[in-house]
Amino acid sequence: MMKAMNRDDAGARHMADDQGHDVVVVGAGAAGLNAALLLGRARRKVVVIDAGEPRNAPAQHMHGFLSRDGLPPATLLELGRAEIARYGVRFLRRRVEEIDHGFSVRLEGGEVIDARRVLVTTGLRDELPDLPGIRERWGKDVLHCPYCHGYEVRDQPLAVLGTHPGAVHQALLLRQWSDDVIFLQHTLSLTAEDRERLEGRGVRIVEGAIGHIVVEGDRVRGIELADGRAVPRAAVFLFPRMVPRDELLTRLGCAKNDTGWIVADRTGRTGVPGVWAAGNVIDPRAQVVTAAGMGSAAAFAINADLVDEDVQHAIEQRRATGAADR
Ligand SMILES: Cc1cc2nc3c(=O)[nH]c(=O)nc-3n(C[C@H](O)[C@H](O)[C@H](O)COP(=O)(O)OP(=O)(O)OC[C@H]3O[C@@H](n4cnc5c(N)ncnc54)[C@H](O)[C@@H]3O)c2cc1C
Repeated sequence: MMKAMNRDDAGARHMADDQGHDVVVVGAGAAGLNAALLLGRARRKVVVIDAGEPRNAPAQHMHGFLSRDGLPPATLLELGRAEIARYGVRFLRRRVEEIDHGFSVRLEGGEVIDARRVLVTTGLRDELPDLPGIRERWGKDVLHCPYCHGYEVRDQPLAVLGTHPGAVHQALLLRQWSDDVIFLQHTLSLTAEDRERLEGRGVRIVEGAIGHIVVEGDRVRGIELADGRAVPRAAVFLFPRMVPRDELLTRLGCAKNDTGWIVADRTGRTGVPGVWAAGNVIDPRAQVVTAAGMGSAAAFAINADLVDEDVQHAIEQRRATGAADR
């Protein structure tokens, strides 16, 4: 069991048996768990800390992950947590409040865990348009990703909401799954080219503001426009505003690119030494399988970085004790 003890410098409580972790992984979605699996198998001392709010929690099934297609999202994570436990990786259901350089990882409640490296896999937040009915049906029949859920609503009457500039591309894409796609323009201004592309692809444009999503019997039945017109539909797609949960990284000094996402190399190494990131927190396009792959790549790079440091320490120690000259 973990014990808390007083720390004299900042009054923070360091967990007695938490001292000396190689890596703290913040976030236990696909990215964090896959990284932890690799690091645990590399015999690193790892703790994974997760607040329990994975992005795809509202969905009943996860698709597009080889050998796991159709699995409930929570089951994938349960399986992952069981796998990391086999290699001695510890898991804490907690929120990380701050990471101080060095690294000291401060948890909600005041405990602090020290680590040589940190990997942040905190995902992103989907900001949904403020329209009645959207939030309740999100992940069920109000959807975002055709690759995740398009097949399940194939050949049905579908709508795309004009609430984000990305919606035009989304509608063009969605026609791959159904011949009956309408684009509700709502407040989005469409260029002549947008219209030509949508109409050319067989997407019907419906003008007018959206009133609310019509839900009956635990199902979306359509959309009612502000002027009272009813548009019967079986499912609704929208493009959320994706906001990275990257506050821990930005406060550590990690730089962002001009689109507002943290700069990292292909292994997830940020510009701050010792700090890695993987998954949706640095890439909004990452699916579950991609996020897992990013976690894996980060784990390889972190372990290699630790090996370099271990080698350097060993050389310095040998030199200091004169062992190298004997
Ligand atoms: C409705 C919906 C359905 C989807 N369906 C699919 C699908 O079928 N197939 C597919 O491939 N993709 C799907 N996705 C995308 C999928 O959710 C992401 O690709 C995936 O979750 C990214 O994994 P991640 O590890 O980067 O982040 P997440 O899975 O979001 O995990 C991040 C974790 O970090 C934790 N965290 C955040 N901040 C802190 C903190 N300060 N301290 C501690 N923990 C913290 C969170 O609680 C969370 O558990 C869907 C997305 C949505 C919105």
